Amino acid sequence: MRIVSSVAAMPRLAQKWRRAGARIGFVPTMGYLHAGHLSLVQEARKRVGKSGKVVLSIYVNPTQFAPTEDLANYPRDLKRDLKRCRATGVDVVFTPGDAEMYPGKATGEYSTYVVEEKLSQSMEGAARPMHFRGVTTVVAKLLNIVLPDVAVFGAKDWQQAAIIKRMVADLNFPVKIIVAPTLREPDGLAMSSRNKYLNAEQRAQAVILFHALQAARAAVKRKAITAARLKKDLLEFITAAPQARLDYVEFFDSHTLRPVQLVEPGTQMALAAFIGKTRLIDNGPL
Ligand code: AMP
Repeated sequence: MRIVSSVAAMPRLAQKWRRAGARIGFVPTMGYLHAGHLSLVQEARKRVGKSGKVVLSIYVNPTQFAPTEDLANYPRDLKRDLKRCRATGVDVVFTPGDAEMYPGKATGEYSTYVVEEKLSQSMEGAARPMHFRGVTTVVAKLLNIVLPDVAVFGAKDWQQAAIIKRMVADLNFPVKIIVAPTLREPDGLAMSSRNKYLNAEQRAQAVILFHALQAARAAVKRKAITAARLKKDLLEFITAAPQARLDYVEFFDSHTLRPVQLVEPGTQMALAAFIGKTRLIDNGPL
């Protein structure tokens, strides 16, 4: 396994592979890798085959964090990440630095961003203004640097995956986007690097997000229910966990992200909740 941190060296390597006929699979991450990330690596490997190359990037992208968010405290453990990548058959771990990713940013000379204007308005985009501008910008840059044939994203960040697919279609990026399922802890909590922030009591209560999804699933199975009604019920449901505070819950079409009035089996649900000070998200089809 190679570790590449130079932004100039990465595309040279990718071009060399491409000339030799190897397909490139790419998994962008912010590190602190868990089994969910590694399942994306396995999906990438499946797509490019044994003779293909799998690149995993580890980059905590500053432009997708608001000044009030957890950029400085975001969990990092490169040594452990590299061990996990090696064990999962990653070919190259790409670990660029801020100075190379955003040249001139510190002195105000960096001035180009990629903005998706529609799908990014709701949910995470409404709760975290500028977040998706940072995501689309860094993913566009990473795609130009790594030059993959396929890139794999997690369903855990459903809205993000939808926005990336739209960006790639709208801007003609020659890459196929794959969305792989959310991996969960045995009790149902979606795996996330941010779960590390939770103390024991909070960890026990964090499963409320998953339980809310299950409760909504059970409710719509009995009969279709208005989004307004179900939002009220779920707000109550989540408030029962003393450490939990619902940020939003939305019901929408899984492809267009358009909100629905009437929730029925197949409607996509997404929610964000604070557990203590930690903000967690989850989603799934009902
Ligand atoms: P992150 O490091 O949180 O930016 O995530 C990097 C990629 O891993 C994104 O495409 C996420 O959607 C995906 N991911 C994060 N958590 C999970 C999970 N529990 N299951 C599957 N994919 C995940």
